Amino acid sequence: MSQILVKNIGLLVTNNPSLGSTQLGILKNAALLAENGQITWVGDSQSAPTAQNVIDADGKCVIPGFVDSHTHLIFAGDRSNEFSARMAGQSYAAGGIADTVTKTRAATDDDLLANANRLMHESLNSGTTTIEIKSGYGLTVIDEERSLKIAKQLTPETTFLGAHVVPSEFKAKSNDYVDLVCGQMLNQAKPYAKWIDVFCDRGAFTPEQGRKILTAGIAAGLKPRIHANQLEQGDAVALAVELGCASVDHLTYFKQSDIEKLANSKTVATLLPGAEFSTRSKYPDARKLIDAGITVAIASDCNPGSSYTTSMPLMIALAVREMFFTPEQALWSATKGGALALQREDVGHLSIGAKADFVILRESSYIHLAYRPGVNLVEQVFLHGKSI
Ligand SMILES: [Zn+2]
Repeated sequence: MSQILVKNIGLLVTNNPSLGSTQLGILKNAALLAENGQITWVGDSQSAPTAQNVIDADGKCVIPGFVDSHTHLIFAGDRSNEFSARMAGQSYAAGGIADTVTKTRAATDDDLLANANRLMHESLNSGTTTIEIKSGYGLTVIDEERSLKIAKQLTPETTFLGAHVVPSEFKAKSNDYVDLVCGQMLNQAKPYAKWIDVFCDRGAFTPEQGRKILTAGIAAGLKPRIHANQLEQGDAVALAVELGCASVDHLTYFKQSDIEKLANSKTVATLLPGAEFSTRSKYPDARKLIDAGITVAIASDCNPGSSYTTSMPLMIALAVREMFFTPEQALWSATKGGALALQREDVGHLSIGAKADFVILRESSYIHLAYRPGVNLVEQVFLHGKSI
């Protein structure tokens, strides 16, 4: 049996309100025991059991590993020139994705895997212990299938996003492309995907097309989630709630009726502050969602076009500074919120029975994640009870 005890934790965030104060379930002067990759004991450091391996956290803060519920790691090339042009005044349009599609189609499987692995490492080193990965830069049957095969080597949280944009060869024939996505592409993608997703927005797919795609995915045994309202106010939130999507992602724009619909549903609102940051767009006010009782997650949206970062600490800093989260809400949304967006009960918290995925920070409080932006505050990351 592998055993590790972390003692002398100044502030332990469990995300289990029954274990400690506030929604974060905070314990002071705490310890946690991990055995065979699971949390088996949490409590006061003074009364901690003995263990084979003991780590002294020296009064620092321990938090659950981040759950990044929205990334696009399977791609080739980068779009730094596009970013530079945008910062010089050009606006962001969904069509920029086409450039990455061309490069991804031309890349070998090994190149795609190596690039995704590099980003996975980056992500893990910054404290992310659960990650979702989408396809969506292949947009042919064979390229979507291989993208998901590669993603499945890296995470169980794989999402078929054949409906990312309409590829150029289907220009003016978007319904034909939707038929392909719902037919042969879905058929070959589904063995490697847990989720089905569609980008419902200006320049991408209409809610009617989105309905067709998600319904086909559900019929094939996949679970639905959706990209919506990044570029303009649309009607996709109603669709997401109606179809029982686990999450509606972006929500840069939302109206009062969207708030009401989400508040009366189990659909998580996932905000992606990296996208607003990198496209210099207005940030949504998360307080309106949180105050309405909606479950809110934050994720990196790591992709080469509109948010080329794997850093969840940066997302927390942006969420607090720009979206009006409190530091507590932002940390919760980056951990437990992400887990709920992936319908996972075994991650995003540090209760008995949860996966022993946690992070020792260099500071005594999680507040520093927002308070000291751009600084690496991750001292040690544990994945399934093992230090990485
Ligand atoms: Zn995305």
